[in-house]
Amino acid sequence: MSPFRLPSLIALLWLAFTVPSRADAPHVVASVKPVHSLAATLMQGVGQPRLLVDGTASPHSFSLKPSDAAALSQADIVFWMGPTLEPFLVKPLASLARGAQIVTLIEAPGLHPLALRTAGAWMEGDDHAHLVPAVTGSPAADNQIDGHAWLDPTNAKAMARAMADALIQRDPANAGRYRDNLAGLLRALDALDAEIGAILAPVGAKPFVVFHDAFHYLEARYRLDGVGAITLNPEVRPGAARLSQLRARIQASGATCVFAEPQFETALIGTLVEGTRAKRGVLDPEGALLPPGPELYATLMRANAHALATCLGG
Ligand SMILES: [Zn+2]
Repeated sequence: MSPFRLPSLIALLWLAFTVPSRADAPHVVASVKPVHSLAATLMQGVGQPRLLVDGTASPHSFSLKPSDAAALSQADIVFWMGPTLEPFLVKPLASLARGAQIVTLIEAPGLHPLALRTAGAWMEGDDHAHLVPAVTGSPAADNQIDGHAWLDPTNAKAMARAMADALIQRDPANAGRYRDNLAGLLRALDALDAEIGAILAPVGAKPFVVFHDAFHYLEARYRLDGVGAITLNPEVRPGAARLSQLRARIQASGATCVFAEPQFETALIGTLVEGTRAKRGVLDPEGALLPPGPELYATLMRANAHALATCLGG
């Protein structure tokens, strides 16, 4: 061996053991809790993703903190649903996260997207009283995809596959771990889908009203009869005229239940069901009250299924 080779070999070995390498966990940022939960499951044994929309914050009205911006600028991978669910991320992804692989989950292969229901709730003159795509919707909303796709577990499977692909590509040293975690997750999602189907089967024909139009995917998967959303924007409180209009619609639709969400005013729901036969329930589409982590997704789905079955079936 030449005298030059040995030091360079030692240098190479030294580099291999000291420089942060592919064996380290990639920096993964996830937008909302259900996406974070799937990412955390896939990364078990490797590392932990960072969550942006934490606590009871809503992705529809979120704004980035400086620490979030820093995390995005250091990210290797960013998982988000897409621009209709997380409008706050559109600009930061194009600027801060330029170096990261951006995985837009609503475009995951095998995911069945549903169009955003633009008018949503019970527009004047809508005698059918159903959430059908509105002809009166604004042109800007045309062809937009509803981002709440995780509420169908078969879509969660498509999301998980796309996320695992990105992790394996970025971090091939841990490919075996990601593949094992994905296989376990897909089995768990199949079992969860069957479990929820059984819980919801008895209440499929019972009409109900929700607080914001987040449950299109759940309704489609389990053939539920969602007949209206009180407001499309959780930040905008309906006025008095709108409230009395909605109360009349609730009465006329025969809705069995009106579901609030944990982070919203419960007093509003009380006002709304006053004088109607509808009962009150709570649904949590984004996991507002749940601690983030691998368990969140299944906990969220089960809690919503039980809330629907209890209120609609009781
Ligand atoms: Zn939402």
